[in-house]
Amino acid sequence: MRLSRYFLPVLKETPAEAQIVSHRYMLRAGMIKQNAAGIYSWLPMGFKVLRKLENIVHEEQMRAGHIPMLMPTLQPADLWRESGRYDDYGEEMLRIKDRQGRDMLYGPTNEEMITDIFRSHVGSYKDLPLTLYHIQWKFRDEMRPRFGVMRGREFFMKDGYNFDLTKENALHAYNRHLVSYLRTYERMGLQAIPMRADSGPIGGDDTHEFLVLAETGESEVFYDSAVTDLRFGDREIDYDSHADCAAVMEEFTTKYARTDETHDPALFEQVPEDRRRVARGIEVGQIFYFGTKYSEAMGATVQGPDGKVVPVHMGSHGIGVSRLLGAIIEASHDDKGIIWPEGVTPFHCGIVNLKQGDDEADAACQALYDSLTALGLEPLYDDRNERAGGKFATMDLIGLPWRITVGPRGLKNGVVELTSRRTGESEEMPPEQAVERIAQIYKGLAVRGI
Ligand code: ATP
Ligand code: MG
Repeated sequence: MRLSRYFLPVLKETPAEAQIVSHRYMLRAGMIKQNAAGIYSWLPMGFKVLRKLENIVHEEQMRAGHIPMLMPTLQPADLWRESGRYDDYGEEMLRIKDRQGRDMLYGPTNEEMITDIFRSHVGSYKDLPLTLYHIQWKFRDEMRPRFGVMRGREFFMKDGYNFDLTKENALHAYNRHLVSYLRTYERMGLQAIPMRADSGPIGGDDTHEFLVLAETGESEVFYDSAVTDLRFGDREIDYDSHADCAAVMEEFTTKYARTDETHDPALFEQVPEDRRRVARGIEVGQIFYFGTKYSEAMGATVQGPDGKVVPVHMGSHGIGVSRLLGAIIEASHDDKGIIWPEGVTPFHCGIVNLKQGDDEADAACQALYDSLTALGLEPLYDDRNERAGGKFATMDLIGLPWRITVGPRGLKNGVVELTSRRTGESEEMPPEQAVERIAQIYKGLAVRGI
C-alpha cells in the first residue's frame, strides 16, 4: 500500500478522552473512530489488524476441530425466556421491539440460540462430539464503557459451544479449548495466563479466564510467578487425545493463579513468598463447562447408546477479539507508539523514502515494494512529500516491526537501512538483502491481509 493512497488519519494531538495508552495510540494511529459511547468504526488500519486476529482465531479453532458458522446479532426474546435469562441478564442486555411489537434483543452471547439450533437438528449420540463457533458482534450495554475497544458496548467476540454425551467428554472439550486458546494468544505475541475465575451470568462451576498482565487491566489477579515461565510454544498436540489435552491443562493450571473473585488467601499463603504476585490483568478470554444447565431448560437431548434420552453436556468459550487489539498494544508499545508483534502487524514493513521525487530513490523504493509484494508480503510505502522526521514519527506511531529507509546517500553506496521498531537498531545492507531478511522473518507466519 502506498501511504499517499491509503486512509490513515493520524492525529498529532493526544486525545483528551483517552485514559490508557492503547486507547490513545489507537486513536492517534487512525485505527478507530468513536461514534457513540462504546461504539466504534474500525478505520482501515484498525480493521486490518482486527481481521488478522480473526483469521488467527479461525485457524486455531479449526485446527482443534471446531466448526465455524454464523448466527445473527439480533435474537428473539422468547429463546431467552426459555432459559430464564431474559429476566436475569439485567440492564446490560439491549432490548428492542420490532414493528410487530415482538421482543427482540441484540445478543450479548449465544447459548440459547445455539442450543435451539442443536435441538432442531441433533437427536443421537452418534452426532457427538460437536463444537460449533462463530465470530460475531455482540452488544452489552455496559454501565461504564471505557478504554476504547477494551470495554466497548459493541464488541467482536468469538464464542464457541461444545455438545457432548458425557461430563467426561465435555471436560475434554474444556481442556481442548484451553490448549487452542494458549496457541491462539501466543501466535498474537501475547502471554495470556489461565486463571480460575467466577462464572457470572453464564452459570456453571468450571471456568477459567485468560489474563494478559498489564497495569491498566481491570481485574485484580493473584499468582505464583512461576506461571509466567510457562510457554506452549510450537509443540504438536493431538486434539482428540483426552490425556494430551488434560496434561496441558494440568501444566498450565496447577500453580496458583486466580482473579479476585475466586482468590483464596489461605491457599495463596502456600506459594513461596518470593513468588507471590498481586497484579492487574486484562481478561481476553474465558472458558466454561456448565453441564446441562441450558440443555435441560431448553430440551436439547440425544438418544444415548443404551436408547435412553438424556440432556447433552455443554460448555461455552469466548475470546474477546476486538479487546485483544487493546491488550496487545498495552503489552507492546513504547513512548513513541505501538510495537506490533510480527504475527498481527497490519503491514509487514514500512518503506520510507527520504527524498521523494528523486528519480533514483523513487525507483529503489518502487523496486523494494515490488519485490516484497511478489513474495506475498504487504509493505506500507510512505511516498508522501514530507520531512524525514515526520515520516519516522508516523512509522514509529503505527508500530510496523520493520522499516526500510531509502535515501540518495545510501543508494550511492548501494545500501538501504533496515531498522527494528522494537530495538531501534539499524543495519545497512543492499536492498535485495533487506528483502531477503524480511521474507525470512515472516516465514511461517500468517501473511494474509485485506
Ligand atoms: P468482563 O468481566 O470484562 O465484563 P465478561 O466476563 O463479562 O467480561 P465473557 O462473557 O467472558 O465476558 O466474554 C468473553 C470475552 O469477551 C471476554 O473474555 C472479553 O475478552 C470480551 N469482552 C467481554 N465484554 C467486553 C466488552 N464490553 N468490550 C470488549 N470485549 C469484551
Ligand atoms: Mg468473562
